[in-house]
Amino acid sequence: MNGTALDEIDDLHWTLGLIQNLEVGLVVVDRKACIKLWNGFMANHSGLPAQDVVGEKLFDKFPDLPTHWLHQKLETVFLLRNPAYISWEQRPYLFNFKNNRPITGYSKFMYQNITLIPLTSPTGDVDHIGILIYDVTDTATGQIALENANQKLKKLSREDRLTGLNNRGYWEECLNREFERYNRTELVSSLVMFDIDHFKKVNDTYGHQAGDEVIRAISQALQIQARKTDIAGRYGGEEFGAVLTGTNGVNAMIFAERLRANVESLLVKHGEYQINCTISLGVSELNEDVESATAWLEQADKALYQSKQNGRNGVTLFSV
Ligand code: GH3
Ligand code: MG
Ligand code: MG
Repeated sequence: MNGTALDEIDDLHWTLGLIQNLEVGLVVVDRKACIKLWNGFMANHSGLPAQDVVGEKLFDKFPDLPTHWLHQKLETVFLLRNPAYISWEQRPYLFNFKNNRPITGYSKFMYQNITLIPLTSPTGDVDHIGILIYDVTDTATGQIALENANQKLKKLSREDRLTGLNNRGYWEECLNREFERYNRTELVSSLVMFDIDHFKKVNDTYGHQAGDEVIRAISQALQIQARKTDIAGRYGGEEFGAVLTGTNGVNAMIFAERLRANVESLLVKHGEYQINCTISLGVSELNEDVESATAWLEQADKALYQSKQNGRNGVTLFSV
């Protein structure tokens, strides 16, 4: 053998060594999805050495693979002769490998980015595809943790600590949005505002802690009664609001009256005490006379004030 041939063999040797020890999975398949190459990464993570899989059909050897999906991807690469990329966000993994990274131990499997590369033969044909598998578990779990934290933060920024209801800021945002929506669609909505009666007396008699307990219990009654599309919020200390989307004044009055009766029958336990409270409510239907979200709120407030004037523990529908 001359020098050049020896050099070429050396090159090939190195290349094979590199491929074997690459920290990336490499599989080569032919047109029939028969495995032609299986590198060290694949052997380590699957537990199957090259001699067990080379020459076998990919889909026979790995029945867990998304057969139909992968088959179509491979066909497309053969046809278009362009590489294809699949990120872990589209599909968390192709090969179900265990995650064995200690730092990201909280993911059970290895997240993978996949690249499919058409391999051109010396004759110019594409008869093989190289499948590259990148372990992106660190990135993926990091990003998922960040998204979860953001989700939690978002929830916290919208939530009232004591009751778990929407806080005033977020609830007002929803109220404004509902008003805007009405302007576009003219689909009816109603607003219910309420305030606990003689609440100062509860605090004075049983203490602030007991007062908090009552606020929580009444919030829960509101939450239980509200539908998924209703938006309930804590407007102030012992004032609450509920936007009843798609509900007219008459039905909102039924809602309000039921809530009033529910609260009236509530017995809030605090230590040795059983505390009973009532609420006064105001209802305002959104119609073309209402000029703004603020005006809508003011109307419900006026109706609520009327309920207080009428002796409390009552419901009033706003009218001009
Ligand atoms: P009214 O029937 O006219 O509403 O009488 P009221 O005693 O409820 O009067 P008002 O609304 O003026 O009083 C509200 C009281 O609620 C005053 C305040 O100390 C108390 N309060 C407000 N926020 C909280 C809270 O988060 N926890 C407790 N325990 N009390 C609160
Ligand atoms: Mg009040
Ligand atoms: Mg009050």
